[in-house]
Amino acid sequence: MQERVRFAPSPTGYLHVGGARTALFNWLYARKTGGKFILRIEDTDLERSTEESVNAILEGMKWLGMDWDEGPFYQTERMDIYKKYIEQLLESGAAYKCYCTTEELDAMREKLKEEGKKPQYDGRCRNRTEFPEDKPFVVRLRIPEGAVTFNDLIKGSITVNNAEIDDFILARSDGSPTYNFTVVVDDYLMGMTKIIRGDDHVNNTPKQIHIYNALGWKVPDFAHVPMILGSDKTRLSKRHGATSVMAYYEMGYLHEAMLNYLLRLSWSYGDKEIFSIDEMQELFTIDNIGRSPGVFNPDKLLWLNAHYIKEKNDEDLAELVFPFLRKIVSEDNKIEREALIKLMPHLKDRGKLLTEIAEMAQPYFVKAEELVYDEAGFEKFVVAGKEYLEELISEIKELDELNEKTLTPVFENILKKFNIKFLKIAQALRVSFTGKTFSPGIFEVMEFLGKEEVIKRVQAALNKIS
Ligand code: GLU
Ligand code: ZN
Repeated sequence: MQERVRFAPSPTGYLHVGGARTALFNWLYARKTGGKFILRIEDTDLERSTEESVNAILEGMKWLGMDWDEGPFYQTERMDIYKKYIEQLLESGAAYKCYCTTEELDAMREKLKEEGKKPQYDGRCRNRTEFPEDKPFVVRLRIPEGAVTFNDLIKGSITVNNAEIDDFILARSDGSPTYNFTVVVDDYLMGMTKIIRGDDHVNNTPKQIHIYNALGWKVPDFAHVPMILGSDKTRLSKRHGATSVMAYYEMGYLHEAMLNYLLRLSWSYGDKEIFSIDEMQELFTIDNIGRSPGVFNPDKLLWLNAHYIKEKNDEDLAELVFPFLRKIVSEDNKIEREALIKLMPHLKDRGKLLTEIAEMAQPYFVKAEELVYDEAGFEKFVVAGKEYLEELISEIKELDELNEKTLTPVFENILKKFNIKFLKIAQALRVSFTGKTFSPGIFEVMEFLGKEEVIKRVQAALNKIS
């Protein structure tokens, strides 16, 4: 049997870290088993669902590279289907119309509370024989006696007494179906074999099983994944940092790092920390999902990101850095692809984020006049080094090209002549070239910039002194 699993977000906000992890587990399960991964947008809450949010979710899925095989299906386009099954349940008697008014229900609950009972619907319309034509009604499921038991693939066996579940609403008075109902209808019709979702839904599962039973449908397997907590062990929220997946893209994270991080957050394979996407797809099992909540740890995510940045080849990394660099290099400057690639080996060990690498690369793609000098560095190295920088320019003018071989004797001369250490002139040059006190090896930078640009930048820095 081919496995079929789904991710079923409600489009009421961006793609959340927790949602992305749920999607990841489903996606990996489908890829691991050669099954299908279905995307379903649960947009029946018209007040809270937005198209913007649908787009944000799709964008997040695409960035993470979680491709779906079917969908996206939209529940709002399936209203006729839900209606049909509501009718069917009414006909079979598994559901019934409830005409109780809000006042009646309030009074009923009050009374139950006073009697020390659970304030749930008491089923008073179950055996109604009159059906007033002009009065609004909701449709409720007739919950049988007994109990429901299911074997959660993560949490183990769960039993809920039916007395705990009231005859809950399947369709509201305007005819619109409720969440539990649409989920069951879709999961069944879309052929889901396993429901892997956050354990905030575990309380819905017994209700949903009652709906499956009422319709005579086979109940799928459930796997409820423990939630994600922040460092203070409370539910992950904005207080703990960004919770939107795309915010991590904007901060300069790689999708591989994000996926690896989300995977390890509540799943393990011995002590292994680093999983390529191929490995994830090969090794993933529901059995290895942990039972306790994962604690979000931004340092670990950053560590993984640094790892994946180092692992990229220069071409791919340049490609990834480009959009971030483009944002901080003014428009009239061209960013040569080849030049950016050449810079990568010198930057990839220094930046943990694509944005950091872009920032380090920025000075090499702007004009000398656009450089922003680190003030302290400028004083300490450029102002102090005026004389030997001038000397260096005049000597470099005589060279045909700049590389370690041609530059070494020039530097040796200057060090001797001014009796200084290499670091001093190197720092003075770094600040002149980039505005910053750190850069790749100074000969490499000079070779990268070329003679003309080196002279221009040192001259521009010297001109700033007065
Ligand atoms: N739409 C639900 C949510 O976003 C998920 C439903 C489900 O996975 O069963 O929380
Ligand atoms: Zn009623």
